[in-house]
Amino acid sequence: MAILVTGGTGYIGSHTVVDLLNNGYDVAIVDNLCNSKLEVLNRIYKITSKTPRFYQVDCTNEEAMREVFKKEKITDIIHFAGLKSVGESVKYPELYQFNNVGSSKILLKLMNEFDVKNLVFSSSATVYGIPDHVPLTEDDPVGGCTNPYGQTKLDIEFLLKDYAEQHKEANIAILRYFNPIGAHKSGLIGEDPQGIPNNLMPYVTQVAVHKLNHLNIWGDDYPTIDGTGVRDYIHVLDLASGHLAALRKLSEKPGLVIYNLGTGKGTSVLELVHAFEKANNITIPYVIGPRRDGDVAENYADVSKAEREMGWKAIFNVEDACRDSWNWQSHNPCGYDE
Ligand code: NAD
Ligand code: UDP
Repeated sequence: MAILVTGGTGYIGSHTVVDLLNNGYDVAIVDNLCNSKLEVLNRIYKITSKTPRFYQVDCTNEEAMREVFKKEKITDIIHFAGLKSVGESVKYPELYQFNNVGSSKILLKLMNEFDVKNLVFSSSATVYGIPDHVPLTEDDPVGGCTNPYGQTKLDIEFLLKDYAEQHKEANIAILRYFNPIGAHKSGLIGEDPQGIPNNLMPYVTQVAVHKLNHLNIWGDDYPTIDGTGVRDYIHVLDLASGHLAALRKLSEKPGLVIYNLGTGKGTSVLELVHAFEKANNITIPYVIGPRRDGDVAENYADVSKAEREMGWKAIFNVEDACRDSWNWQSHNPCGYDE
């Protein structure tokens, strides 16, 4: 009786696998390692004293995936596998469709073939497009995605809705993540972006570790508390526990459900930088630059539905996440390449 975790050696996947193993679940990972390292498995073992079964398989390879389904007695799937770089998706939109949407289609086909009923899917706040208000609830309109990556998440959400319509026995949780940051308390696993990071927190930690000179803050003229962009930063450990809550929810056979996973609290770029400085006693030099294309002023979640229906809410704050991100980065200045 296994939980199949696609993308389980990635950033969010690895933290969720740790939480699953620590809670007694039997875990099998599928990952093609296009954006993660095998070393993650050693780190997972160090934390949990358990090793999940691992298949180095591409989720777009239907035959190879079918072999995994034949070997494993899968009850539930958590589908993290996907490409997630906004910039890359603008350059290679077909690749993003093929990888993200294509792998999801194959997964649904195999779920049907092997009678797997439960699926948790990694969606994103990006499906809300350019919001005209905050906080965002799950009932707010989706669409108007500002990049091909976001469009793949929306396309997959529609695929899942169609599938749930046609398969009344299916239980699917679409989780819309806001901005994941932080790392495991052990400092053994964390976010390990390739090249220069696009996201704020890994950029800040690489400035702190002197890999980058200074942070560029993209715009200080937004109509926000201090002019910089506001986001809902959620600790990756809270995100992980959100997946366990979703699995419990699916065991109640709810059909298709959608939850925002965030904290419900907006934090500006400058507030995050200052929280990092305070938590770690480090100065982060920064330069104010122009606005970044496609950025919105404010984006944060209404998280009351997840609490009401799953009994889940975030317990860590931004300071905790700043401390844990730095603990990971300072102990692993080159990520898993040490
Ligand atoms: P990540 O890149 O660290 O993890 C994704 C994993 O999927 C990687 O290990 C990669 O090797 C694997 N993968 C990609 N394509 C694959 C394929 N075709 N077959 C097998 N494995 C494949 O990313 P993450 O931050 O852990 O994100 C996990 C999921 O959450 C993604 O679907 C992402 O789009 C979504 N998400 C992430 C964020 C974020 O800011 N990190 C926000 C919202 C949603
Ligand atoms: N940001 C920034 N400098 C960076 C990276 C990000 O000022 O080097 C800002 C960005 O403009 C946004 C916030 O930090 O207001 C979060 O950006 P990120 O890319 O982490 O997440 P997004 O919400 O855009 O997916």
